[in-house]
Amino acid sequence: MSNFVWCHGPSCHKSHTQDRIRGVKGSKVLRTKKVAKVTQDRWTSMYSYFCSQGCYNDFANTYVREIIALHPRTEPLETPIEVTKVQDTYWNNETYMRTEIKTVDNNGG
Ligand SMILES: [Zn+2]
Repeated sequence: MSNFVWCHGPSCHKSHTQDRIRGVKGSKVLRTKKVAKVTQDRWTSMYSYFCSQGCYNDFANTYVREIIALHPRTEPLETPIEVTKVQDTYWNNETYMRTEIKTVDNNGG
């Protein structure tokens, strides 16, 4: 079992960086970068599949329709909140009113 995955960026192999150069003189290539394989689920993130934010963005922009088709949002999500006005103080002791938004736990918490 290999301990890496190939970066999923569709253009990773087109970036002109020295760490992508492979091969011998006369037949050199720019190769997709390796990404260290994550063995623990809690560490899984985009950096488990992409070598950089740029490669992640390229992937997301290229495949956005397919990704959205997998997880469509047909209605908005809502977070129950409580909005209150709270008096607060500036650094110079002048008071002002600010809006405080607190998340409300409707699950009996
Ligand atoms: Zn990449």
